[in-house]
Amino acid sequence: MQYEGDVYRPPSEARSLIIQVTIGCSNNTCTFCYMYADKQFRIRTREEILADLEECARDYGQYVRRVFFADGDALIVRTPLLLELLDYVKKHFPYAERVTAYGTASDVLRKSEEELRALAQAGLQMVYIGAESGDDTILRQIRKNQTSRQLIEAGQKLKRCGIQTSVTLISGLGGPEHMEEHAIHSAELINAMNPEYAAILSLQLRADSVMAGEVARGERKLLTADQTVDETRIFLEHIDSPGTIFRSNHASNYVALAGVFNEDIPDMLRQLEEAKARHRYRPDWMREL
Ligand code: SF4
Repeated sequence: MQYEGDVYRPPSEARSLIIQVTIGCSNNTCTFCYMYADKQFRIRTREEILADLEECARDYGQYVRRVFFADGDALIVRTPLLLELLDYVKKHFPYAERVTAYGTASDVLRKSEEELRALAQAGLQMVYIGAESGDDTILRQIRKNQTSRQLIEAGQKLKRCGIQTSVTLISGLGGPEHMEEHAIHSAELINAMNPEYAAILSLQLRADSVMAGEVARGERKLLTADQTVDETRIFLEHIDSPGTIFRSNHASNYVALAGVFNEDIPDMLRQLEEAKARHRYRPDWMREL
């Protein structure tokens, strides 16, 4: 199987079979994102995708436990083809326990509830949504092309249809000026979606990204480690999303946190306080891209 360009997947899909059903991201405008900048977006043909699945099923079908549909927003693929792919996985990867995919709020909202229920029934267990922020001004500034309302509606729709969601936010997108709005509105977003999983990464920029140019020209400021911790604290103080499994232990994070909302919030707040008091942060050289 030949992957096209660099392939990205969530940390929890490290051991999954990754199948590219799209190439790149249909949005590809987010100012901090470098992942698919060099790819022209396209949906792969049925024949291309099935050829990859056939090759993998033949060579190691017995060993696959998880399948992840990439690239950026695999859920954009029309439902009949997704159903055919899920059916293929069910029949030819007998030990596969789950199939997951990246998706945008627009992808979810474009599909009917009947379509989403059919996908859930066919084995699509979870959709990873990169929300980045719950603040509409920040979403506009970073050219996400989604509003908090769309993100919430998408999350609630997936839940109603039996598909889990994993929502990612990025610390630092509002800079020091808007860190409070970013934290509070992101918490409100999570509260309204009540996803199965939520994660916070810390903003890291590649030199050739649009946002790195804004920083270089002085149009945008980055958060210090202390400010990043303060932002996460404000976020946690405003969370009310019972049962959501929370992770902030990505390599980019200054302080590694993991717990379940709401019961583990006091403990995570204590960990943040201790880390800040002792300045015990993951060093920047370990956080580099
Ligand atoms: S939608 Fe996601 S993958 Fe696409 S450009 Fe934005 S951050 Fe990158």
